[in-house]
Amino acid sequence: MQILDGKPAAQTIKEALQKKINSLPAGSRKPCLAAVLMGNNPASETYVASKIRNCQETGIESRMVKLPDDAEEKILLDEIARLNKDPQVDGILVQLPLPAHINETKVIELIDPDKDVDGFHPVNAGKLMLNEPGFVPATPYGIMLLLQHYQIETSGKHAVIIGRSNIVGRPMSVLLSQPGKQGNCTVTVCHSKTQNLATYTRQADIIVAAIGRPEFLKADMVKEGVIVIDVGINRVEDKTKKSGFALKGDVDFAGVSQKSAWISPVPGGVGLMTIAALLTNTYHAFEKRQSRN
Ligand code: NAD
Repeated sequence: MQILDGKPAAQTIKEALQKKINSLPAGSRKPCLAAVLMGNNPASETYVASKIRNCQETGIESRMVKLPDDAEEKILLDEIARLNKDPQVDGILVQLPLPAHINETKVIELIDPDKDVDGFHPVNAGKLMLNEPGFVPATPYGIMLLLQHYQIETSGKHAVIIGRSNIVGRPMSVLLSQPGKQGNCTVTVCHSKTQNLATYTRQADIIVAAIGRPEFLKADMVKEGVIVIDVGINRVEDKTKKSGFALKGDVDFAGVSQKSAWISPVPGGVGLMTIAALLTNTYHAFEKRQSRN
């Protein structure tokens, strides 16, 4: 069993970006990411803080827009309209989930597609479907970068994706079926209404688990030699930890790793790659806007 370790893979990407940013002409503007955080969901606060810290490490400037949980939708929409117009801002990310009174679709659709570094806008989702250049959602993009880093060729393999969300499962299914060394898969998408899930997962050469249930995928659901990508980030109560919780993936690592050829850990796998992909998207947004000026 080998580990799809996100640490060196993300570090390589971040160093390459840092080099490019350091070699920008003296006095030139740096790429800039604006993060919008609404409310005080502890997990969201941690994710945004980590994204901003990674920007700083890479030389990407960042802005943080914090809104209270009960702010009116119009206030959020006005902030996004302001960031869309701001010539200093290259990328906008709105941390999800948003409070229940906010229409998430309306918010995402207001983001300028050229600044939509999360790749959730319908224009970018459409480009992904058509295999045209655009912003690919950071988590599936990060998984593709992880496979690339470890030179895992997926051509002709059967990939089973568990989960069909717009931010992970669905775009992942498109990427793995596209032509390319880390594509060309035959893809099966499973979800909450799939019957006899293990029938599919036992046939898989590659499994991407994006379910949101701790240690859901067990050893008896996979075949020997499978490649497993664990997307899940679940907070499970653990009184031995200072924080009071432990992070668990969607895969029972102890059991599944006994049978897998490759497996990504949680933490230290897809989460780190998601951030590396977000930084890459932000740099590309910057490059594209600079080339237009
Ligand atoms: P989601 O809740 O939007 O989607 C979960 C999917 O799992 C759904 O499509 C549902 O059909 C499927 N599902 C639920 N129960 C199932 C079952 N019993 N059998 C088969 N399928 C089932 O979640 P999401 O946003 O796609 O996130 C999934 C997980 O990935 C979560 O743990 C989330 O925290 C994590 N996540 C991690 C990153 C990262 O950077 N590592 C990024 C995004 C999400």
